[in-house]
Amino acid sequence: MLKSIAVLTSGGDSPGMNAAARAVVRTALYEGVKVWGIRGGYHGLLEEDMFEMKSRDVSDIIQRGGTFLGTARCKRWKTPEGRMMGYKHLTDRGIEGLCVIGGDGSLRGASLLSKETGIPIVGLPGTIDNDVWGSDYTIGCDTAANTIIDAINKLRDTASAHRRVIVLEVMGRNCGWLALVSGISGGAEYILVPEEEYNLDEICDNMTEAYKKGKRYILVVVAEGAGSGQEIGQYIAEKTQLDTRVSVLGHIQRGGSPSVIDRVRASQLGEQAALALISGLSDIVFGYSKGRVVSIDLHDAVNNKKILDPDYLHLAKVLF
Ligand code: ADP
Repeated sequence: MLKSIAVLTSGGDSPGMNAAARAVVRTALYEGVKVWGIRGGYHGLLEEDMFEMKSRDVSDIIQRGGTFLGTARCKRWKTPEGRMMGYKHLTDRGIEGLCVIGGDGSLRGASLLSKETGIPIVGLPGTIDNDVWGSDYTIGCDTAANTIIDAINKLRDTASAHRRVIVLEVMGRNCGWLALVSGISGGAEYILVPEEEYNLDEICDNMTEAYKKGKRYILVVVAEGAGSGQEIGQYIAEKTQLDTRVSVLGHIQRGGSPSVIDRVRASQLGEQAALALISGLSDIVFGYSKGRVVSIDLHDAVNNKKILDPDYLHLAKVLF
């Protein structure tokens, strides 16, 4: 049994990180284990910006987006010397295990720390991109998808009023999940994702045909990894001569009060992470697969590339 653990959030923030950190803290305290909060991710660990947490420290945060611990990107963590210093700052305080809540990069940094020092590490996938291998779900992806849907609903109103083509660029880095699920649930005509090749000339020809047959408007959802919304919009406008507008949703997708799904799942994952760490387990990431909490090998999670669900890709084509 570990007696003292720490938790940090790192990389891009996502709605539900607070719920996850809260669950880690309260589970540890429930089990009678000391728990430290590290502010500002790996940067904060190197700066020794950390404090022992009490239950009240995580009051009134479950409903908030962002992360109350703060997050950062930290170049020094990419060096073995940096990670060794972080390890020292943990052991100086008697901290025996670390929970890292973050995306792909943060989990990679965690896996290196564990390999180099042997300190127990448990990761939680905290990113709106839903791009962590081994899990169908990452903390924040549901809220982000709902934010996109809200934008799509509004864009549809104006698109139909003007018979426009709307190109909406959404986040997701190299993963098309956000574009795919929001495109399917928003009824988009075209969904462009990095995982699948597309032919813009063919799409333009189809659009021209559809307008001739009376189509009132067209919605194209583009994952940022599949190309620039601006460039795609410009190409469509020039090729089809249709009235085309581009909307790049940007950081609005990162914020907002987490959805019920993100709050509940983040809480469950946080509880499992704390329990696993306390019992001395290491090198695992907790995620969801087929509706259940699963544990994934940390190194597998960072060394494999997630593939987009082929059933979703097929569905998008059927519903087009
Ligand atoms: P995310 O965790 O959201 O994917 P980043 O990719 O920016 O965000 O990673 C967050 C932080 O994790 C980085 O600033 C760095 O400190 C650490 N990190 C990322 N990649 C590595 C790596 N290859 N080796 C060590 N640390 C890394």
